[in-house]
Amino acid sequence: MANSYSEREILLELFPATPEELIPKYKQFKIKQSSLSQREILVNNKSVLELFAIPASGNPDTQISCDLCNTSAARKFFKTFKIEKPSSDGRVFRYYWMCANLNSCKHRGINEARLEQILINLGVI
Ligand SMILES: [Zn+2]
Repeated sequence: MANSYSEREILLELFPATPEELIPKYKQFKIKQSSLSQREILVNNKSVLELFAIPASGNPDTQISCDLCNTSAARKFFKTFKIEKPSSDGRVFRYYWMCANLNSCKHRGINEARLEQILINLGVI
């Protein structure tokens, strides 16, 4: 798997003499369960995106992998989340598979870069 680097890491690696005020600060990406069928992505503890679980369909035994922790298992262990692209007036949506149990997903290891990528894909950051 290819590594990905933040702007901050690239800048510090290639231009170590950059003045401190020009170096991007670390951002902290988190996901939390806000209700039974709703999750939120937070950047520096501020909610920036809402995810809504949609009803399951298709063969429950099909193998799926989680878009956050990369675990693979039968579809019945996952939920599909629908995310509206902000400022698209309800016309653009993205769908992500995530573990039905968010705590287990976090325990297996959510890569913050994946949360960041979701936000980038949706034009949030
Ligand atoms: Zn997961």
